[in-house]
Amino acid sequence: MGVIVQKFGGTSVKSPARVKNVAALVADAAKHNSVVVVVSAMGDTTDYLVKLARQASRNPVQREIDALLATGEQISIALLAMALNDIGSPAVSLTGTQLGIITEAVHTAARIVDIKTDRIRRYLDEGRIVVAAGFQGTTPEGDITTLGRGGSDTTAVALAIALGASACDIYTDVSCVYTADPNIVASARLTEKISYEEMLEMARVGAQVLHPRAVELARKHRLKVRVRNTFDPGHVGTLLTGDEDMEIHRPVSSVTVAREQASLAILKVPDRPGIAGTVFGALAIHRIGVDMIIQAFHHDRAVNDMTFVIKRSDLDAARSLLEGVAAEMGAEGVLADEDVAKVSIIGAGLMDQPDVAARMFTALGRAGINIKMISTSEIRISCAISEQDADRAVQVVHDLFHLDEADLS
Ligand code: ADP
Ligand code: ASP
Ligand code: MG
Repeated sequence: MGVIVQKFGGTSVKSPARVKNVAALVADAAKHNSVVVVVSAMGDTTDYLVKLARQASRNPVQREIDALLATGEQISIALLAMALNDIGSPAVSLTGTQLGIITEAVHTAARIVDIKTDRIRRYLDEGRIVVAAGFQGTTPEGDITTLGRGGSDTTAVALAIALGASACDIYTDVSCVYTADPNIVASARLTEKISYEEMLEMARVGAQVLHPRAVELARKHRLKVRVRNTFDPGHVGTLLTGDEDMEIHRPVSSVTVAREQASLAILKVPDRPGIAGTVFGALAIHRIGVDMIIQAFHHDRAVNDMTFVIKRSDLDAARSLLEGVAAEMGAEGVLADEDVAKVSIIGAGLMDQPDVAARMFTALGRAGINIKMISTSEIRISCAISEQDADRAVQVVHDLFHLDEADLS
């Protein structure tokens, strides 16, 4: 029997009743396949654990954050394995360590370096379903690590690749990948196929539906990942596929919003070689992801302002790092804006239509939405705006490019 990997997110296993519902779906698939099922923590458990850590410590040690967060998935794998055994499907739960998922020795955002699959294969050969804890791994020394929020998708894709699985189905609380978050835009249209490139851009700019590193890995190995709905399992969902399989490239295929962003500006930085490297090197060491970098010069050209966007949760750490760097470089100071959201349009055919950017900015302007910053790539245009305008901006842009209409021409 071929191996398939299924992954169920937090909403899908929110309660014991939902765990039983998932068990029935998995047991059904196990009639014809060897199944590895990856699960996330139940409902909002991970958020709750993060909150607990903050209550116990002002600056929690990263190693212990991972030890704490990994317990969420430990609950759901044990419950699902119990529920499966109950309905006559032999199953065994495995934590990241037991699965043999080896990661770098970096806490809270570790990358997978290897998966020792012997134990998984042994259980599958015995006819058991392997219930795998998402989002976690172990360092070569045996310390627990986590892969970053939303990382269970990456566990599923990595396991599918390591096991040579014929399918990797990501079950969630929506039916597929839509042209916009269906919880924001009621008229969002479903996408039957999406290219790895477009999905990767969407995931990077905040479409939660897949973890960006899962898409990156799938793209590298050309793994056919399908997004499906736990609550409507008959729905065909969305297939991630190579660009070469796509017949038509819409200039704009989707719009995505990322909330809870912030911007930081370093003012009047001396205009010298190596300065940008120092600033962004300091952030990179602390794994603070940066987007929308803008450097603008003052009239006398002796100094520059540098502005960029980060996640709001990284703001305190980034600000204190940069205050130190700014003082060392003789910059004037650091300015933060905590009220930032990022609205992005994505489309593989974006570059073919030079008026797209202007149309987007004009429509936002007409809706009274102020654009704080802009950045573009070959297949994406992003605008930083005030968070209170986020939902409206998504709707305005979705309407502007008629994303609710199936006709792609
Ligand atoms: P899970 O807990 O199953 O991993 P997530 O909450 O991480 O689920 O991701 C699913 C959510 O992604 C949906 O409920 C939806 O609000 C959000 N989402 C954002 N953009 C999109 C999109 N373009 N298509 C589908 N879902 C999207
Ligand atoms: N439980 C983790 C989180 O909430 C991982 C995941 O759900 O993918 O981020
Ligand atoms: Mg998720």
